[in-house]
Amino acid sequence: MAREVLALAMDAGGTMTDTFLVDKEGNFVIGKAPSTPWDESEGFIESAQDAFMQWQLDERTAFAQFEVAVYSGTTMLNTLLTRTGRKIGLITTKGFEDILLMEQGRQVWSGYSYADRLHSATHVHNQPLVPRRRIRGISERTNMFGTVAIPLYEKDARAAAEELLTQDLQGVAICFLHSYANPQNEKRMEAICGDVMQAKGINIPIYLSSHIRPVIRENQRVNATTIEAYAADPVRKQLHNVENRATSRGYRKQMTTMLSYGGLANIRHPRLHETLISGPIGGMLGAHYVAKLIGAPNVLAIDMGGTSYDFGLITNGTFNLNNEPEIARFRLALPSIELDSIRGGAGLYLSVDPITNRIIMGPEGAGASPGPVCFDRGNKQPTITDCLAINGYLNKNNFLGGKIKLNLLAAQKEIKTQLADKIGLNVHDAADGIIKLWLQTALDATRRAIQVRGGDVADYVIMGYGGAGPMVLAGVSEGQPFKGVVTFPFAAAFSAFGCTTTDYSHRYTRSSLFSLQHNSDTAAKEVVAKGLTELWNTLEAEAKESFESEGMELSKVTYKRIAFVRYGGQLDEVEVPLDRPWQAITGDIDHLLDLFEDLYTKMFAKAAKYPKAGYAILQVALVASIETKKPEFPLFPDQGPTPAAAVKKGERDLYINGKWQKAGIYDMDSLESGNVINGLAILEHPATTLLVPGTRKARVDNRKFIWLENL
Ligand code: AMP
Ligand code: MG
Repeated sequence: MAREVLALAMDAGGTMTDTFLVDKEGNFVIGKAPSTPWDESEGFIESAQDAFMQWQLDERTAFAQFEVAVYSGTTMLNTLLTRTGRKIGLITTKGFEDILLMEQGRQVWSGYSYADRLHSATHVHNQPLVPRRRIRGISERTNMFGTVAIPLYEKDARAAAEELLTQDLQGVAICFLHSYANPQNEKRMEAICGDVMQAKGINIPIYLSSHIRPVIRENQRVNATTIEAYAADPVRKQLHNVENRATSRGYRKQMTTMLSYGGLANIRHPRLHETLISGPIGGMLGAHYVAKLIGAPNVLAIDMGGTSYDFGLITNGTFNLNNEPEIARFRLALPSIELDSIRGGAGLYLSVDPITNRIIMGPEGAGASPGPVCFDRGNKQPTITDCLAINGYLNKNNFLGGKIKLNLLAAQKEIKTQLADKIGLNVHDAADGIIKLWLQTALDATRRAIQVRGGDVADYVIMGYGGAGPMVLAGVSEGQPFKGVVTFPFAAAFSAFGCTTTDYSHRYTRSSLFSLQHNSDTAAKEVVAKGLTELWNTLEAEAKESFESEGMELSKVTYKRIAFVRYGGQLDEVEVPLDRPWQAITGDIDHLLDLFEDLYTKMFAKAAKYPKAGYAILQVALVASIETKKPEFPLFPDQGPTPAAAVKKGERDLYINGKWQKAGIYDMDSLESGNVINGLAILEHPATTLLVPGTRKARVDNRKFIWLENL
């Protein structure tokens, strides 16, 4: 019977665009192509075709069969980083016109290294997304209780709209103080802009902070609103291009994308800034899915790609959500799966510091175009990939399955003249040292991630993925007592795989103002129960409206209610998901507080419990989701430790630890359950390369996951 495909997931990273295809039986295959940031839909098609080819699928038939297609790209992040977004204006409360320049103080050093943070002389303000001349302040004030204390001064408002709307803008963001508690003034301002636009014959989008991100704290709210206005529309264009390409090839549904808190959303989702860091999030979801499968409660997931090195933790079966992450030097009230990211990918540029004569890695990297020197497409500055290539780690004829032939001589020449000669080493020793340095940097960052969170490396399984993940897995776990070290034949498209393991879901949040004294009476609890019910009902209505507009079946939606609870007087809160239906009775409040204290004592210590301080709930959330079909991993019968003869492709000289050594070369995809391969060996896949050092062996388990174990 012909194969029928079910889902297509794609992750466009800084270097590669990865595809993960799932068929109706839960089988999967991956595809890969260089990213095409100028028009992501090119990379989309090329990467999809690469996957189709391996299953010998006809493109039209395949596209027509997909029930779901997920695409996550990096356009929004790039638009922000390169400040190439739209020309927008901002209208805010009078007196707050400098909000983007003040950056809540601490945003000024966000993303800085520890050393730089200490030296205020190094702090440089972010370039604001809206220059001061396109920002207007209006007399108005809503207080924190949602009461309009000063009505909108219509004269100010009209004048501001007139001035801004003659500036040839592409959008206007409106963010007033405390508009999350009452959007009335923002809505009035929107109406006035509408009048002025009509009179002038202009039609540009208006973004209200009370709509985009109705949460407390104006800095975070204004960031979300301006990012949505500034960077989301270019992304939407890219996403629509991608969808159009798919539709023109027979795709019948709408395209979905990945949210930073780990759910899928239609590309027409009104709050696209929620997809700001979607790629690596896919990886964390995939790691979570696999962790459950293999019964590992604690996992350190590492994603080594061409551009960045991302790593995150799963502890006790869950990942952390960060409610106020800093992304691209913006502090956002955007719940995101917590992960760390450093510019440490295999595409990092290398140079020698002329003063200290030391190797400098990065911070910039080569990306896919023109790429490393060995791609021979015009770049002359060596990268880590070039070092890997000349020392025999990479197969020059199998990069992206042979689509890119690596020019080792070119790489060798540049490494010699630009690096090795300057530090007085021969070219292979220089490359060897650089690879060690790279691994050491990754190892330090990774170990720190566990330790700063109070964990113990010995409790964690380390999971390596990304094109270069299997390459660094041995180095990053070297000498560390990890519980297990594992990677996958689909490592190179693991983040795309992760996108297929999550549900179609949206998360809605609202700030609230509830507090309860210690031992408060039933009446007080009733007030809170009633207030929470009202908020959750509003969010549910919003969810329904959005799911309906995205063409989803409302009967399939399930809802999860979340309260953010803290002890009175605290600054941080705990996300408490309700584990039973909400009946809006006082017993629910008791249950909620029990859940909170349970979580709180797990996160901190039993002694940290402090009910006497009372409780506050300053934010609630609702997650609405529809379940999707997930890929399955069949169990393969054990074929014994010796791989079939055809698995071994030969031998290659590898320059490692200061000398040339013979490494056995094996084809990763041909390995069977139970096979064991002793180091020194290299397991090759068209899009990734696993290094098995001389001290270790690779063992293939019954799902064909590959474990690196000590010899
Ligand atoms: P990613 O950005 O996750 O796609 O990772 C890309 C990186 O994977 C490249 O920079 C290479 O260093 C590494 N890599 C290892 N083996 C291969 C291979 N056979 N083909 C392509 N990339 C590979
Ligand atoms: Mg990647």
